[in-house]
Amino acid sequence: MHSAILLQGLTLMPAVNLETVAIIGGGVAAVSFACALRAGGFNGSIIAVSDEPELAYDRPPLSKTFMSEGGDAVRLDTSRATNVEWLHGVAAISIDGRQRRVHLADGRSLPYSALVLATGAKPRPLAALANVELPSFTLRTLGDARGIRARLVAGARMVVIGGGIIGLELASTASRMGVSVSVVEALPRLMNRCAGDVLASFVAAQHAQNGVELWLGKQVIGCSLQGVLLNDGTTVPADFVVVGIGVSANDGLARSAEIACDDGIFVDRYGRTTCPQVYAVGDVTRQRNPVSGHFERIETWTNAQNQAMAVARCLLDPTAAPYDEIPYYWSDQYDQRIQVLGIPQGDEELVRGNAGNNAFIVFHLLRDRLVGATCINQPKAVAPLRRLIASGKTPDRKKMIDIDLDIRKLADDDQQ
Ligand code: FAD
Ligand code: NDP
Repeated sequence: MHSAILLQGLTLMPAVNLETVAIIGGGVAAVSFACALRAGGFNGSIIAVSDEPELAYDRPPLSKTFMSEGGDAVRLDTSRATNVEWLHGVAAISIDGRQRRVHLADGRSLPYSALVLATGAKPRPLAALANVELPSFTLRTLGDARGIRARLVAGARMVVIGGGIIGLELASTASRMGVSVSVVEALPRLMNRCAGDVLASFVAAQHAQNGVELWLGKQVIGCSLQGVLLNDGTTVPADFVVVGIGVSANDGLARSAEIACDDGIFVDRYGRTTCPQVYAVGDVTRQRNPVSGHFERIETWTNAQNQAMAVARCLLDPTAAPYDEIPYYWSDQYDQRIQVLGIPQGDEELVRGNAGNNAFIVFHLLRDRLVGATCINQPKAVAPLRRLIASGKTPDRKKMIDIDLDIRKLADDDQQ
């Protein structure tokens, strides 16, 4: 891939004359970057620019506890990012890489010695819903969450379009609040992007048991005030619709500065883009997945936090370890804690434990190589499995499914 080759040609320079760091974005990646700079002893100036009017907040609760309980628990802790100037409600609109300045929509222009793009992603729109009077939402921001939350009253009818992770988390929260929920997914199975078959079936059963109606393999072709029209002629009744059909990277700022992008800003393991002194972290990046070896967007909270921290450390000290973590996400649906490591899709799945008792592990193999693991209500298995997948080893199949063999022993056994 051309941009990946460009990145390989970059040489690592010590961060001399690092006086002013400008961070664009106000999510977990931006906050983690600022905190890590201060933790690493940087005492120059840090300015962070977010186009959202809100103080920095976290997104995972928006589909979970914020929906059911509300409150202010969504705020991100910025206390370790001391002496940071936070600008809210103003967008960065262009980068002048020669002059090392970033221009804001309100006319200001900020100088930088390092610029960090942490601009995240935005929901994809669904064309079939354009110009329809039925209220429709996406879920990315606190404002979106407040709008949806106001409609989550017992007896209300919500149709979720997209059987991905966001729609399913919302379906689980809303159905427990007495909302009548239907999920429409274009593919014949749920969570296609981020789960293997065993987890997809498990999750489908959980939703069905909790009264959620699943419309799999159906396309939405239109909408009326009565509800959502499917390609088989069915109208699914709805008072409102939530669209969760994936996200695209907020990489317009980088593209307009001719930084290499392809639905995401290409970065190396030091967070460097193809423009000198411009870095990118979090959902907006397209980075090499250490398990697949491909340049991908990794849209998870843990990646946004840990990639940002690693890139900040490397900016201060080029000998620091570059970012090399295997992907990880969690999801809470009903009482099930789902934790997924590595690549959850391969050509073979091995189940350790009984999928019927809601506590099991799925190993994902691709061409006989262990590439991922899915844990259902097995939190203690996550750390050893992370070590195992990062090691690149593939234990014997019989050992993987042997529930009498301690998972830590499986992970740390050198005889594999
Ligand atoms: P973002 O959080 O998207 O932040 C980017 C910020 O930059 C935004 O505020 C944006 O408005 C701002 N911005 C964009 N362009 C500009 C500009 N030009 N100028 C100024 N500001 C700009 N992940 C998990 O692993 N587990 C979960 O359980 C989980 N739950 C989630 C629930 C919900 C409802 C959502 C939406 C996401 C969830 N995620 C979860 C994903 C996780 O939240 C994201 O991976 C993470 O927020 C990415 O952080 P980020 O800082 O890279 O980007
Ligand atoms: P996903 O990509 O996870 O899922 C979207 C789903 O919608 C896919 O299965 C997709 O199928 C399907 N789809 C696409 N087009 C249509 C259509 N026209 N009709 C019906 N279904 C369609 O994205 P989400 O929107 O669920 O999540 C958005 C973001 O939020 C992601 O970055 C995600 O990582 C993040 N998030 C993470 C959480 C977590 O980690 N726990 C929780 C909530 C959100 P196809 O694959 O064919 O496109």
